Amino acid sequence: MNPYETFVTDVARIFRQANDYPLGGFPAPARSQPAPDAPRALIFAPHPDDEVIIGGLPLRLLRERKWNVINVAVTQGSNRARQPQRWKELEACCNHIGFTLRRTRPNGLEGINLRNRKTNPQEWNQAVDCLARILSEEAPRVIFFPHDDDWNSTHIGTHHLVVDALGQLGRAFSCEAVETEFWGAMDTPNLLVEVAANWSEGRAVRRRLFSSARSTACADGRTGNWSRCWTTAGSSRARMTWSLFLRPNQR
Ligand SMILES: [Zn+2]
Repeated sequence: MNPYETFVTDVARIFRQANDYPLGGFPAPARSQPAPDAPRALIFAPHPDDEVIIGGLPLRLLRERKWNVINVAVTQGSNRARQPQRWKELEACCNHIGFTLRRTRPNGLEGINLRNRKTNPQEWNQAVDCLARILSEEAPRVIFFPHDDDWNSTHIGTHHLVVDALGQLGRAFSCEAVETEFWGAMDTPNLLVEVAANWSEGRAVRRRLFSSARSTACADGRTGNWSRCWTTAGSSRARMTWSLFLRPNQR
């Protein structure tokens, strides 16, 4: 007997079943507030929902290390009529999963793409200033942002916006950098992070069809040697170690 027929039938049945699940409304999981001096992780999310799509490693830092994970909402999408509602959805999502939420500016930044970077440097530089200020104020130990080939123009734009902000801050600033993957696959991922199945709250809240979302890459911003890693929700092939985040001089 060919086992794949059963496999495909079961997968199709599970997807149909999930389509009837409620759109949120679940009680928030019990958790304690991070200590005021807890290390901070910043997520630079190009759009509302990216923070949970790529959020496996940040969620582990929150749950296992009690870090303060802060989602920086770079944009609130390009549909201006939807931006206020998307902010409300994002607040509910972050509140549920336990991420702190930080605005860039009311209704989010706009024009975060390479075309605008080239043709509208004044607006772009204002956005760079905004992210540089947030990085400086939050002094994160690690940041998460899309890799430079993540297909979507705003994801790629967010990559360059963060890199430009880091460049503006210069050598006085340092943190670990984790490049994330969503739309476009990385050529050289170097890390696979396991996320337990019962940690699916973020996806439950957003309930998009991204349940197999792969994510995340990492880079050593300190040395400038950009390397990449990759995570997958529910993977059993974890290769990541915590040593990256627990170097003696960072404790
Ligand atoms: Zn996005």
